[in-house]
Amino acid sequence: MSKQILCLPGDGIGPEIVTEALKVLDVIKQKFNLDIEISDGLVGGASIDAYGVPLSDEVLAVAKKSDGILFGAVGGPKWDDQPMMNRPERGLLKLRSEMDLFANLRPAMLFPQLAEASSLKHELVAGLDILIVRELTGGIYFGEPRGIRTLESGEREGYNSYVYRESEIKRIAKVAFEAAQKRGGQLTSVDKSNVLEVTALWRELVTEMGKDYSDVELSHMYVDNAAMQLVRAPKQFDVMVTGNMFGDILSDCAAMLTGSIGMLPSASLNDANQGMYEPVHGSAPDIAGEGKANPLAQILSLAMLLRYSLNEVAAADAIEQAVSDVLDLGLRTGDIVSEGCTLVNTSEMGDAVVRSLQA
Ligand code: NAD
Repeated sequence: MSKQILCLPGDGIGPEIVTEALKVLDVIKQKFNLDIEISDGLVGGASIDAYGVPLSDEVLAVAKKSDGILFGAVGGPKWDDQPMMNRPERGLLKLRSEMDLFANLRPAMLFPQLAEASSLKHELVAGLDILIVRELTGGIYFGEPRGIRTLESGEREGYNSYVYRESEIKRIAKVAFEAAQKRGGQLTSVDKSNVLEVTALWRELVTEMGKDYSDVELSHMYVDNAAMQLVRAPKQFDVMVTGNMFGDILSDCAAMLTGSIGMLPSASLNDANQGMYEPVHGSAPDIAGEGKANPLAQILSLAMLLRYSLNEVAAADAIEQAVSDVLDLGLRTGDIVSEGCTLVNTSEMGDAVVRSLQA
């Protein structure tokens, strides 16, 4: 049966970079004889303009039936005065919650050719390849009760609840163990179990599960140390797994080690391995329509889609290799250009990846 991919280009540079990823998908389909059907839809501001809402019921229904969603980016100044519940980003949040996309996979990888873009020393980051697995639909961002209340003294108090059920911990840990099996075989679970009971339970359950993954070397680290180690010696990590809030912070930190936001893909998966795949960056309205956008994060998001939702590992590897080859040729979009390299526009970069795959 053919696999279904839904494309949701969104706003700003979204449509430009998704176009390049689709060129790549076209070649990959032929090269690896893949039976994939592609559909598309509107999301974010584009959907607000057409239907008055950031995600229509029709598009959501198609998304739920898809194996993978290739998502561009949403948002822009045109929709900044929309009420909070109707902003473009709501389309993204609705997809995450309606499809229960609880596992956020954020690689922080630095192609050696771009090591100069990092704020860290070349030798600390060249060849960096970390995968952060962040729980996305639970923890303190969603725990109840929450709010701001007024105490008897008249002073106001803000409060949130940091809650994880066993089932939530086990399902994100399973994703992380399996990702480690597909990569370097090392998993670091990040918690604050010396202070927070919820993460003491986290550590207990992850340790227990580790016995079923004898091919994965499991270690535990407190979050404060993990933050320090990420900037001290980031290459010690392979896969890191952590809760929603710690993952939010650590994944941004790890992403910026690479110094090039236009290069970073991400995935959000559910229990059925359905996933939404998108660049880490936003819709970059400042450069939209100018052919300046780097399409490589989107193209690498497609590689993740093939790897994690379609299990087409060879096809994913081929795309990542093609991206590396193009960087070897010295081709760069404006966000990653440096002396001695050739400046290319969005479609020239996409075409170069296509040519490398065809070679
Ligand atoms: P941004 O990531 O869109 O842009 C930050 C800077 O990086 C800009 O200078 C931009 O030109 C540059 N940049 C981003 N992607 C690039 C690429 N592929 N190639 C070259 N340069 C690139 O973040 P922002 O400016 O804070 O937000 C712009 C809009 O995007 C806002 O409406 C925001 O809400 C939205 N946003 C959407 C998502 C998403 O869809 N997942 C994520 C973040 C921000």
